[in-house]
Amino acid sequence: MCPEKKDKDCVFCKIIGGEIPSKILYRDEDIVVFPDINPITPVHLLVVTRKHIPSLAQMSDAETALVGKMVIAANRVAREQGIAGKGYRLTINSGADSGQIVPHLHAHLMGGRQLRWDH
Ligand code: AMP
Ligand code: ZN
Repeated sequence: MCPEKKDKDCVFCKIIGGEIPSKILYRDEDIVVFPDINPITPVHLLVVTRKHIPSLAQMSDAETALVGKMVIAANRVAREQGIAGKGYRLTINSGADSGQIVPHLHAHLMGGRQLRWDH
């Protein structure tokens, strides 16, 4: 990975770089999927771009394909986790009002129980 695409203080960059251990469930050249450390649903995974993009709001046109890759990776892992049949949610928080706390683009893949709109 190009160093300039990494933020040395970013927790997700550290997981992607192997500095912080995590159970990587899926990886390809653009996307990594690992469990959320504080799950709020029986299946709660994070679908993360390898590239350090601070938020959805800061994506450029050149990164359009990455969104599709995130969705395809999420669908694949959802099938592998056995939640594809009953349904799941893919959520991207962007900015303070959304509750985004980690400034590295990621989607929450949540399922394994009936979800309400608020969680
Ligand atoms: P967001 O509010 O969308 O920025 O969500 C960030 C998520 O990252 C939260 O659900 C946290 O529980 C999760 N998280 C923070 N640190 C870690 C970590 N070291 N490993 C896995 N998940 C993490
Ligand atoms: Zn990062």
